[in-house]
Amino acid sequence: MTLRWRAAAEAAGLVSPDGSTRPTIFAEMTALALRTGAANLGQGFPDADGPQWIREAAVRAIREGANQYAPGRGIPELRSAVAEHQRRHYGLDPDPEREVLVTAGATEGIAAAVLALTGPGDEVVTLEPFYDSYAAVIAMAGATHVTVPLVADAGGFRVDAAALESAVGPRTRLILVNSPHNPTGTVLSPEELGAIASAARRVDAVVVTDEVYEHLTFDGLSHTPLATLPGMAERTLSVSSAGKTFSLTGWKIGWVTGPADLIEAVLAVKQFLTYTGGAPFQPAIARALLEGGRDIAELRDSLAERRDLLLDGLRAAGFDAVSPGGTYFVCADASPFLTPEAPHGAAFARALPERSGVACVPVSAFCREGSRAATALSSWVRFTFVKDEQTLRTAIERLAAPGRR
Ligand code: PMP
Ligand code: GLN
Repeated sequence: MTLRWRAAAEAAGLVSPDGSTRPTIFAEMTALALRTGAANLGQGFPDADGPQWIREAAVRAIREGANQYAPGRGIPELRSAVAEHQRRHYGLDPDPEREVLVTAGATEGIAAAVLALTGPGDEVVTLEPFYDSYAAVIAMAGATHVTVPLVADAGGFRVDAAALESAVGPRTRLILVNSPHNPTGTVLSPEELGAIASAARRVDAVVVTDEVYEHLTFDGLSHTPLATLPGMAERTLSVSSAGKTFSLTGWKIGWVTGPADLIEAVLAVKQFLTYTGGAPFQPAIARALLEGGRDIAELRDSLAERRDLLLDGLRAAGFDAVSPGGTYFVCADASPFLTPEAPHGAAFARALPERSGVACVPVSAFCREGSRAATALSSWVRFTFVKDEQTLRTAIERLAAPGRR
C-alpha cells in the first residue's frame, strides 16, 4: 500500500505491519459484539434515535427539495442557529456570515483545522488519552503530537499541570482540547481551563476545542468553552456537532466557530475535503438548536440515571470505576480481573465479549504506545452507558456472574 503519511501512520499505530488499514477500535469492538451476541458497551452511539420531530424536519426538507449542494459554509439558517446557540448558552457572539462554518461532523472540523493550521515542524498538544482521530490527523498534517496526561486521583482524571507547562513551548502551534472528555468523562475545571488558556497565550498558540459532549454533563457541572476565557476568543476555534446532543450520530452535522481569519483558513481546507454535506439535515439541526432545549434536558437527565446504574453495577462487580462528570462513558480499572491470558486492558477487552457477553473498549486505544498515560492506564477499559436500561442491566448481570469475567 502506498500511503503518503505511512511512516507517521505506522508511528501512530493506524496501519497494520502488513500495510492494511486497521479498523478503528470502535468498529472492531462493535463487530466483535455482534459476532458474540455481547451487550455492546463499546462503541459510543445511542441505541435510541433522537427526537422524532427533528427526524421529521429532515424528512420534510428532503420532500421540499433540500437535495442539492448546500453553500460551502453551511445554510444561513443553520449558521444563525449555531451563533444563537453560542450566544444563549455561553455569551459568545459569532457573526453567522464570517465566524461560523458548518462541517461534516466535528471530525471534519477538527481535521480541517489541524490541516489548515499545522505542518512539519509544528507541535500539536492534546490531552492523553485522546480521541482516536486526533493522532491520525496530526500525522496527516506532518506535525508532531505532544501529549499531556490525565492522571486518575480522588477527584477523577485530572490534567497534570506540570506536564502541561512543559509540553507547551515555542514549537506549539495548536492546543487541541476535548472537554467533556472522551474517554475519561472529565469536565475540565476552571483551574484546568485557566492553565490551558495561559499556556496558549504564553506561546501565542491557537486553541481548537472539541466540545461534542457540551450538553451532556452531570452532578450540576456545566461546560465552559475555552473561548469565553480572557484573551481566548481571538485565538480559539470551538468545534461541536449535533450527533451527541440530539442522538443523531449518523447525520454528521458539525460546526466550527471562531475569529473570521481562522475560520477562513479552516474553510480553505474544508472546501476541498467535502466542500459541503448533509443538505437536508442542516435545516433540521437548525430547528433542533433553536427549539430542542427540552429534548437536551431529558437526554441529560436520563443519561445521568444510566451513568449511575452502570457505575453501581461495575463497582458491585469489583471494578474500580471513576464517576464521569460528563459524556457517554465510564472508565474502570480491570486489574482485579486480569489473568495470564488477558494480562492488560486491551486483551481483557478483546476477551470479554466471549468470556462474559459484554463489550467495552480498552483505554490504551486512546493512548500512544509506551507513553506515560498508556502505562498508567494499561489495565483500564471504557464502558458506555448510552444504551437502553435493559442492555445495561444485562451487561451488569453478566459482569456480576461469578466466573464470567
Ligand atoms: N470528538 C469526540 C471526543 C468524540 O467522542 C466524537 C465521536 N463520537 C467525535 C469527536 C466525532 O464527532 P462527529 O460524529 O460529530 O464527527
Ligand atoms: N465517538 C464514539 C466513541 O468514542 C465512536 C465514534 C466512532 O466510531 N468513530 O465510542
